[in-house]
Amino acid sequence: MTDIAGAIARLKSELPSNVKVVAVSKFHPAEAVMEAYNAGQRVFGESRPQELHVKASMLPDDISWHFIGHLQTNKLKMVLPYADLVESVDSGHLLEAISDWGVSHDRTVDVLLEMHIASEDTKQGFFGEGILQIVRNASAYPGVRISGLMGMATFTDDEAVIRNDFSRLVSLRDGIKADIERYPGLPADFGILSFGMTHDYRIAVEMGADIVRIGTLIFGERTY
Ligand SMILES: *Cc1c(COP(=O)(O)O)cnc(C)c1O
Repeated sequence: MTDIAGAIARLKSELPSNVKVVAVSKFHPAEAVMEAYNAGQRVFGESRPQELHVKASMLPDDISWHFIGHLQTNKLKMVLPYADLVESVDSGHLLEAISDWGVSHDRTVDVLLEMHIASEDTKQGFFGEGILQIVRNASAYPGVRISGLMGMATFTDDEAVIRNDFSRLVSLRDGIKADIERYPGLPADFGILSFGMTHDYRIAVEMGADIVRIGTLIFGERTY
């Protein structure tokens, strides 16, 4: 059995208080979420619409859910009523659909744009130019609030590669912030960065991550 409460306590003492830890509970049962909840954790990440829907419906209301997986537009109704932040917007088509949902439900949906920073081409996300196209055109999406960027580094033990991946995310964010007046559709405080997982969160925090998404370290290995 994984010591969920112990892992949360260690993370809390290790990380600066301004870094938000998303406990990634995908594939773990509701009991595991409750164990983390009872240890004080309130922010959880899920990557499958159905699983988020089921857990959010049965677990305490003061949990803040982040959606972190690939989202298809026909699954929005299982995600958007529950998610405080959709971290994984990876296409203009999806952004538009979320914005339309927000407008029709009288809500502004908080989102991050996912940048493809890994060298594996399996990981989703925009390339830098695609993100710039979106942020230039951000006013076209009135039902969303684009708060920042998310990314996943190459899965490797080579720290230099991880740092290089993360640095592209940081540079893109810094560049957008420096030119923020060119992007009137962005919120003035645009710039949240979500990067870093179990195997690379220390590097991420050192490089300025605002959000780290940690699953295995808290809940143990996932059984697929
Ligand atoms: C699963 C997942 C995580 C957590 O991964 P761990 O290695 O278990 O910490 C973080 N981010 C995303 C997008 C994920 O899908």
